[in-house]
Amino acid sequence: MNVLVINAGSSSLKYQLIDLENREVMAKGICERVGSDEAFHKHGIDENEVVHDAPMEDHNAAMALVLEALTSGSNKVIDSLDEIDAIGHRVVQGGKYFSESAFIDDDVIAKIDELAELAPLHNKAALMGIEACQKNMPGKPMVAVFDTSYFQTLPQKAFMYPIPYEYYDKYALRKYGAHGTSHRYIAERAAQYLDENLNDLKMITCHLGNGCSMTAIDHGMAIDTSMGLTPLDGLMMGTRCGAIDPAIVPFLMEHEGLTFDEINDVMNKKSGLLGISGISNDLRSVRTASEEGDERAQLAYEMYSHSVKKYLGQYIAEMGGVDVIVVTAGVGENCDKMRRMIFSGLQSLGIVLDLEKNKLRGGEREISTDDSPVQILIIPTNEELMIALDTLDVVEHLRLEGTL
Ligand code: AMP
Repeated sequence: MNVLVINAGSSSLKYQLIDLENREVMAKGICERVGSDEAFHKHGIDENEVVHDAPMEDHNAAMALVLEALTSGSNKVIDSLDEIDAIGHRVVQGGKYFSESAFIDDDVIAKIDELAELAPLHNKAALMGIEACQKNMPGKPMVAVFDTSYFQTLPQKAFMYPIPYEYYDKYALRKYGAHGTSHRYIAERAAQYLDENLNDLKMITCHLGNGCSMTAIDHGMAIDTSMGLTPLDGLMMGTRCGAIDPAIVPFLMEHEGLTFDEINDVMNKKSGLLGISGISNDLRSVRTASEEGDERAQLAYEMYSHSVKKYLGQYIAEMGGVDVIVVTAGVGENCDKMRRMIFSGLQSLGIVLDLEKNKLRGGEREISTDDSPVQILIIPTNEELMIALDTLDVVEHLRLEGTL
């Protein structure tokens, strides 16, 4: 079965065509700056990647280009669209409606639209991607995979904010979490790697990239996560501030004369590693600068690891211990120095990093010492594969039921 995975942003359309039988990415690419004069299309894998300027006025036009590239030209991978069996869409906000992935019908589309109030840019973009597929491939089965659905198991004490209850009733303001597909994928892979049942483990999963989030998974169930109503909450990130004293917001608005949009910009785009170092949101540049003696870069580095440590402590307390810690994403998978800082001094909690294993590169691997009571694993994330597998699951289930 070949599944086309679509991740639509407000001005981009990212895609992968995945052959699930061989777990192989057949093609991937992205249309960027959709709707602008500088629109371009990147298509292909590694050295076969081609980039060209391509006018595309909207997501429909972008989708038409993608389908053309998949079925014709030098990088074609299928002869016709019949070879695409189903489409999986990444949708950011599933609210209280979706605790699992859902077959896309009119009702699901209406709910994604309704939830756009909580994630305006993201959910509207997903709808544009869905509509573009409906136009270009009418009748093709489609499944929505939500970033938030993995966290619908959180207990109310973890997902509520201590603000007047009426705002929860009125606006559904609560923690929804994000990166759920990534946390679910690495948790399942980690259990498989260890040859254990996920339901027997206390696990903390850490997605540490430009965006960062951590999740406590108690015997297979997410019980807390660091992102909140939006992906701004929680850990310090590349450009996002994560959790800060909320009083800072009105203070800065008043003293700097900032509008809502401007304060949003400060917290989402000018904070985190970039805001502290003043150099970059890219940890590699921050690392180089800190090694050259830049004090703010060193501080940014220390704050990032400190932020992860705080959540480790919180989740260990919430679960009454931990068996496995899993790290993933750009920083988690690649930066041995950051991992060393995060896990330093945690021996008394049974968390012992093996400094030699930590330096080695590779795919899925263990980096704790052989006798560490808590195992630390690196599991490269693969959200697209998870979306494709969910799509297959939902479609096959409906076929077995005879409803598709
Ligand atoms: P992601 O959002 O998962 O793509 O992760 C992006 C982040 O990973 C950026 O901050 C990169 O600097 C960081 N990253 C990627 N490779 C490395 C590396 N080898 N060492 C340090 N950071 C890295």
